[in-house]
Amino acid sequence: MTSTLRYVSTRGKAPRLGFNDTLLAGLASDGGLYVPESWPSVRHAASELPFAERAAQIIAPFVGDEIAKSDLEAMCRAAYSTFRDPHVAPLRELGDNRWLLELFHGPTLAFKDIALQLVGRLFDHVLTARGERITVVGATSGDTGSAAIDGVKNCANVSMVILYPKGRISEVQRRQMTTVQSPNVHTVAIDGSFDDCQDLVKAMFNDRAFRDQHKLAAVNSINWARVLAQVVYYFTAIEQLGAADSAPVSFSVPTGNFGNVLSGWIARRIGANVGHLIVGSNANDILTRFFETQTMSATGVVPTLSPSMDIQVSSNFERLLFEMNDRDGDATAAQLTRFRESKRLSVDASTFGRWIRPVFRGQRCSDAETLAKIAAVHRDYGVLVDPHTAVGLVATEACAEPGEPVITLATAHPAKFADAVKKATGVVPELPAHLADLFERPERTELLPNDIAAVQRFVAGAVASR
Ligand SMILES: *Cc1c(COP(=O)(O)O)cnc(C)c1O
Repeated sequence: MTSTLRYVSTRGKAPRLGFNDTLLAGLASDGGLYVPESWPSVRHAASELPFAERAAQIIAPFVGDEIAKSDLEAMCRAAYSTFRDPHVAPLRELGDNRWLLELFHGPTLAFKDIALQLVGRLFDHVLTARGERITVVGATSGDTGSAAIDGVKNCANVSMVILYPKGRISEVQRRQMTTVQSPNVHTVAIDGSFDDCQDLVKAMFNDRAFRDQHKLAAVNSINWARVLAQVVYYFTAIEQLGAADSAPVSFSVPTGNFGNVLSGWIARRIGANVGHLIVGSNANDILTRFFETQTMSATGVVPTLSPSMDIQVSSNFERLLFEMNDRDGDATAAQLTRFRESKRLSVDASTFGRWIRPVFRGQRCSDAETLAKIAAVHRDYGVLVDPHTAVGLVATEACAEPGEPVITLATAHPAKFADAVKKATGVVPELPAHLADLFERPERTELLPNDIAAVQRFVAGAVASR
């Protein structure tokens, strides 16, 4: 008899799905997020394996029999052959008991490549088997758009339209999207803000006829497969250190939507030798305040030097909340409804003591501290780090106990945030060779007003033209 893991919604009202439907669904129909019905256990590898092979091993129990093992292995190999470093996610020592895990060696220089290179291939595989096509629409303020585009640029069954706010993303970020020449990929500069772009995407999804006609889909950070793919590097980092059987290794994670650090929590839950999870925040410090006060209270978003973490409410936190409620979907849904109304969510002392205190630490970091950290790391180790990584390093310093081994996740290449790095160190970080001619490549983009009818006309035309 074959068996396969099923997925349930954190709000308890959506149908249970297998892996492939969970992959394509993104958000559950009750507004919740999908999580596995039970947690499989995964052992550390006895010796270091190639990243792609290890990825397939760790991911397989979550896929069950829905994708053949050999297909999953082939997709992992293809996804991770796009990385410039043979380790895919190499460790770099940065002082006693401190390491950086470099997650930025993928095509678009941010850690999101690790998930999206695989997710694009998973989408195409499942859609080919079903003879279906989809249209992914999304809004980006920078990193997600380019990583998503690169992940699907060779997918036969996926069209993609990414909206970005005209003049409000960096030139590197824009060019990484607009110089991709694949006919299934389209970028649109909207005459408006990032919030306007998000509202346009929401309006397209809320237009049921339009959504069904074009089979709209999303690849935002709540997608289960993205969270799952990120679990892998927590295992491989510990295996690279040879620390599977020694003292637990803690991780410091520059955090926005809580996707990356949730993957660390899952790695710990299923058997990785993970100690503490240190959550680094910039001035948007809702999580740090939660760890201090047991209460989450939402405020406005402040722009910072680490823009990929400028987030008001971390959407993936809902998956942890579901666990904290002993997997009671009704209780989780009610708690989130109250949070939406009152902008406050409190956790009682015993729940906090059981789920949060033993695992999580949190620290906020100002822009001034971020710049000082970039300068200090350059001075002390000759290493350039991007502002997001610097937030993680500040949090490591504040939260690590004496002698505790800590790996800080380096989530972006310094050249992606060259202005901040130059301001801190006087050095302009160089783009890697594959992007050295980025500024000479022809751009292809569309400019549209902040108008839903115009955007829908464009999406319909883009889908028809493929
Ligand atoms: C997306 C992103 C983050 C935040 O990751 P989450 O999974 O949203 O917490 C941090 N750093 C960089 C460079 C990013 O692109």
